[in-house]
Amino acid sequence: MTTPAPDDHAPSDVPVDDPTGEGGAAPPVAKDTSTTPDLRHAESLVLVNTGDGKGKSTAAFGTALRALARGWTVGVIQFIKSGDWRVGEERLLTGLGAHWWALGDGFSWDSDDLGESEAVAQTAWSEARDRLASGDYHVLLLDEITYPMNWGWIDTDEVVAAIADRPSHTTVIATGRDAPQALIDVADTVTRMHNVKHAFDSGIMARRGIDY
Ligand code: ATP
Ligand code: MG
Repeated sequence: MTTPAPDDHAPSDVPVDDPTGEGGAAPPVAKDTSTTPDLRHAESLVLVNTGDGKGKSTAAFGTALRALARGWTVGVIQFIKSGDWRVGEERLLTGLGAHWWALGDGFSWDSDDLGESEAVAQTAWSEARDRLASGDYHVLLLDEITYPMNWGWIDTDEVVAAIADRPSHTTVIATGRDAPQALIDVADTVTRMHNVKHAFDSGIMARRGIDY
């Protein structure tokens, strides 16, 4: 399946609120558009959600929902398998037609079998690389891929090259803390979630329906 995504761009006269700032006390004023670049359509994008705050995967799944709402084909590859943690999203998104691979052996920060985890991460990348090259997807979500990249388990240059050489209609979303610079460089849109505070820090356990 290599059908390009429907060209569902918003009309160019839709106002965009505060595209550069963080809002603020002053009401919006007319903008000087003399320095605005000419806008164009992109057939696909590379999005990166990184940083130490909560919301990287949540935002990525939200984008996957938008894509599914447009009838697009969506694939999700999870590079860290967390037991029941993703069951909620997995059930919902596969029910809506997304393809899902949760490869990994449940390794965590204190895994006592890093060698095996490395092999499984490489298997996940091999799967992701094939899915990326297949052209079968309008959106491919590589959830938590920055971790095996940063641990040297999968080759960052290879991942970035595969993303750069992807089929022109495939949008890639990558999530995880500490996105490597090369991944940031290849991306069109990079969001760094900043941890202001997190309930876990005050001893509140992860909550079903909120955190997974
Ligand atoms: P989410 O899946 O909620 O969008 P995330 O993808 O931004 O979170 P991950 O690093 O993948 O963050 O961690 C997933 C789990 O860890 C979630 O249960 C999330 O609530 C929790 N978490 C995220 N950020 C923090 C943090 N700064 N401190 C403690 N727990 C966190
Ligand atoms: Mg996450």
